[in-house]
Amino acid sequence: MSQSVCILGVTGSIGQSTLKILQQHPEKYSVFAVTAHSRILELVEICKQYRPKIVVVPANKVAELQQQFQKQDLNHIEILIGEAGLIAVAEHPDVDVVMAAIVGAAGLLPTLAAVKAGKRVLLANKEALVMSGDLMMQAALDYNAQLLPVDSEHNAIFQCLPDGYFQAERNGQPKQGVSRILLTASGGPFLNHSLEQLQNVTPAQACKHPNWSMGQKISVDSATLMNKGLELIEACHLFAISEQFVTVVVHPQSIIHSMVQYVDGSTLAQMGNPDMCTPIAHALAWPERIQTHVPALDLFMNHQLDFQEPDTTRFPALKLARQAMQSGGLAPAILNAANEVAVAAFLNQAIAFTEIPQVVEQTLNQVENSAAESIELILQADRVARSIAQQIVINNGS
Ligand code: NAD
Ligand code: MG
Repeated sequence: MSQSVCILGVTGSIGQSTLKILQQHPEKYSVFAVTAHSRILELVEICKQYRPKIVVVPANKVAELQQQFQKQDLNHIEILIGEAGLIAVAEHPDVDVVMAAIVGAAGLLPTLAAVKAGKRVLLANKEALVMSGDLMMQAALDYNAQLLPVDSEHNAIFQCLPDGYFQAERNGQPKQGVSRILLTASGGPFLNHSLEQLQNVTPAQACKHPNWSMGQKISVDSATLMNKGLELIEACHLFAISEQFVTVVVHPQSIIHSMVQYVDGSTLAQMGNPDMCTPIAHALAWPERIQTHVPALDLFMNHQLDFQEPDTTRFPALKLARQAMQSGGLAPAILNAANEVAVAAFLNQAIAFTEIPQVVEQTLNQVENSAAESIELILQADRVARSIAQQIVINNGS
């Protein structure tokens, strides 16, 4: 029987790649619901092609969408609104698979709703897991959800882990013969920039990633290495391993997508051309494999694989994220909120690139940390951290 899919964030980079895979396998998957925050014309094109039953947009886009639906004879598609709409489609009884591809904290509640409804959740929205860590993982266990990583590194690690890994106790220790996780990082567009050069880089330069084509926010995160910091936290939660067993390895070619080391001296790597369609297809079909248009690696064309240690003097964001994971509690949510504010300020040219980690660090110093006991406390920490980070941005600018 065909699987019914809900795509949260369908107009984004991950949303589009997901559609590409679904289009290739119409007999296996149908699109039940899609959501978008902007780009209504693109959304309408998607609706014309994939005929979802439900669409979710924010309140200020409903009129425009209705008008377009009228024009295109798409009035039979139900429109739901805002966060309540996102949650409703994420937990909808007719949905089997939820692609969580909203960017940032906005994806937390819908992703959690999908987990609590026991869906297969394809997790691209790493910020949701960074914020809610233990609560999200516990909910996945309690509600029998399959939380499968789409982030290329975590998908690679998932592929390299041994059978039975997820049945073992979740105690932060390496288990089932695993000794260490090697999380690879491309190093981003400024890998070889000096600190002085980093001070003057522009949003356009930061958004031009050497190997991957992605949304603006994650592109900036890749350039500061905060993306790797968020991914470090993501890995600790997904694989129930404490941060001292996760090493970040800069590998500029992005051919190896991450590795798992074993106690017998083995290192397993997952390799492939850098295209998100591969991890999306893997998570969608797991434990089976389905075809994608991504060509197999031609190793004769990829002459060189380089590895180096990350430089946390030029890229302090990675260190801040590791410290936030060590501190635990609300620290990762505070880090994430401050980073979202700082990245938006950088994209609006209100602060310099090198000020992004400074805003994050100062926010972490100013917001009190405590145990992340409930989603309400996490959302409150997110709000407080955003307002403090915003204030720091304003003070820096004046
Ligand atoms: P994007 O900016 O291209 O798309 C984001 C999507 O979320 C869009 O559909 C947008 O309409 C929607 N959205 C934005 N703000 C929203 C809000 N406030 N409420 C509801 N919806 C909102 O982002 P992307 O690059 O596709 O990334 C999506 C997520 O996947 C991010 O968490 C990112 O870290 C993660 N991810 C992306 C890639 C990649 O290659 N792009 C790789 C790994 C992980
Ligand atoms: Mg990644």
